[in-house]
Amino acid sequence: MTDCIFCKIVKGEIPTLKVYEDDKILAFLDIAQINAGHTLVILKEHSDAFSELSDKAVAELMTSVRTLAPKIAKAVGAEGFNVGINNGKAAGQIIRHTHVHIIPR
Ligand code: 5GP
Ligand code: ZN
Repeated sequence: MTDCIFCKIVKGEIPTLKVYEDDKILAFLDIAQINAGHTLVILKEHSDAFSELSDKAVAELMTSVRTLAPKIAKAVGAEGFNVGINNGKAAGQIIRHTHVHIIPR
């Protein structure tokens, strides 16, 4: 989507601090960190919300989250982490490009 901030981050049009990248996934630090290491994980392909993803896309996204989250937590000296998804405006989703929050605790 041309007016999507996270698609612009994927295309390199907006700078970000990348945590991980492959052909399908991008993980980058949240601009407003709740805790050190607060990371957003996205599929590069645009979708508006988690509930719209195919089973395959969910598997790709959440497998990456499961792999990355313990590593990020360890890197910042956290003992655990929260994984969060805001799905829809009423649930606090501000950016309409599906993303998963990893918040070290
Ligand atoms: P939501 O409420 O949609 O789940 O969370 C969106 C998140 O994206 C927020 O935590 C916000 O700080 C983060 N965010 C918004 N714009 C940018 C940006 O341009 N760069 C980065 N790295 N994070 C952003
Ligand atoms: Zn997008």
